[in-house]
Amino acid sequence: MIKKILIANRGEIALRIVRACRELGIKTLAVYSEADVQSLHVQLADEAICIGGPKGADSYLKADRIIAAAEIADVDAIHPGYGFLAENAKFAEQCESCNIKFIGPNAKVISMMGDKAIAKATVSKAGVPIVPGSDGPIESEAEAVKVARKIGYPVIIKAVAGGGGRGMRIAHNDVSFAKEFHVARNEAEKAFGNGSVYVEKYIEKPRHIEFQILADSHGKVLHLGERDCSIQRRHQKLIEEAPSPFITPDLRKKMGKAAVKAAAAAKYENAGTIEFLVDAKGNFYFIEMNTRIQVEHPVTEEVTGIDLIKQQIHVANGDKLEMSQGDITFTKHAIECRINAEDPARNFAPSPGTIGLYYSPGGHGVRVDSHAYSGYTIPPYYDSMIGKLICYGSNRKIALERTYRALNEFLVRGIKTTIPLHKAVLADPMFIEGKYTTAYMEDFLKRTP
Ligand code: ADP
Repeated sequence: MIKKILIANRGEIALRIVRACRELGIKTLAVYSEADVQSLHVQLADEAICIGGPKGADSYLKADRIIAAAEIADVDAIHPGYGFLAENAKFAEQCESCNIKFIGPNAKVISMMGDKAIAKATVSKAGVPIVPGSDGPIESEAEAVKVARKIGYPVIIKAVAGGGGRGMRIAHNDVSFAKEFHVARNEAEKAFGNGSVYVEKYIEKPRHIEFQILADSHGKVLHLGERDCSIQRRHQKLIEEAPSPFITPDLRKKMGKAAVKAAAAAKYENAGTIEFLVDAKGNFYFIEMNTRIQVEHPVTEEVTGIDLIKQQIHVANGDKLEMSQGDITFTKHAIECRINAEDPARNFAPSPGTIGLYYSPGGHGVRVDSHAYSGYTIPPYYDSMIGKLICYGSNRKIALERTYRALNEFLVRGIKTTIPLHKAVLADPMFIEGKYTTAYMEDFLKRTP
């Protein structure tokens, strides 16, 4: 039985894990950097150990120190959250070799799905549609141009190790391709220490639809429905909702089956996400799998009533999933807005600093997952997300009205946030009608001053 968990993360997700553990009667150990002494996850965990300097590279990415802390505090398992070491196969392996359960899939699966080219080949073999593209990474420009012509422009050049919306370049013809190919390789090398890239068809104005997977160590693989994550800026998600206003029950069934097939093909265990792009006709294509809990997991929790963090811990404990696919129903509608400490009026420049007054909304159907509070100083070293507002109700209309209402109650003084942008989107008829694609945000920012 897992009795004590080390949380190898910070911010709202660390707090989210503390909360799940507390309800399960599991002790928690927070690890933190010198910049996070004031952080709520440190204050609310049962124990806390400082593991290094403010920069991620000196603390949350220091696998050896995290494992040392786990050994000193005698924990049974490590929850990596998202980001930092969450999709680091070497870290998962280190945990296992030290007899500490890594709450996630095994190292082999992480590295397989972490390479987007291998992931595509794996699910394609199982019969899941993928975006047409190169068979794996391409080294030479001449060969890459040939592939691009064969696929047909526009194409997108993507880093095999890519993540966080980085390492992607679009090309519309041979000339731009030659340039972008080298830029993409250099960017990928710099960002991920791996310059390998592959090429695929650039699907214009698709929907980003992803399926939540839950799989146990006894071979049961379930899907918990989809999330529509098409509201993105620079390929990074800003608003997510479930169910998608675009997906019909029929398409949900088809895509859900494909998602389960993809996860089963990878012999997946624990919570994961299968991401698809869907074109206007409802054709869907696998793009990648994320082998961790995602930022937007709460929308799935609110529509299904299933606590994903608790399920992750049960699976890691070796427990069987108690439900079957037929038990999973989607009776609600949920919308999540990412509250980032950024200034939308200044090209989304980070806005760290001290929060004066912080008042989070409440009432019926409102959930706020955040580590922020009045007087909290946001360190400049990490991701700018300071919280998530999740509103839900029995249908989309109620969820929309509730989100707008809650955004108007949300007070974060002293810094700039994405709250005003969310308010404007929630008041936009195109968004309200649900007629949006991944091209929505760029267009919205152009047409609204
Ligand atoms: P990351 O791992 O960096 O998040 P993804 O492969 O998940 O990268 O893609 C992120 C986003 O980039 C997608 O949601 C979509 O908006 C865009 N994108 C990726 N591949 C394509 C493609 N082939 N055609 C059109 N858009 C794409």
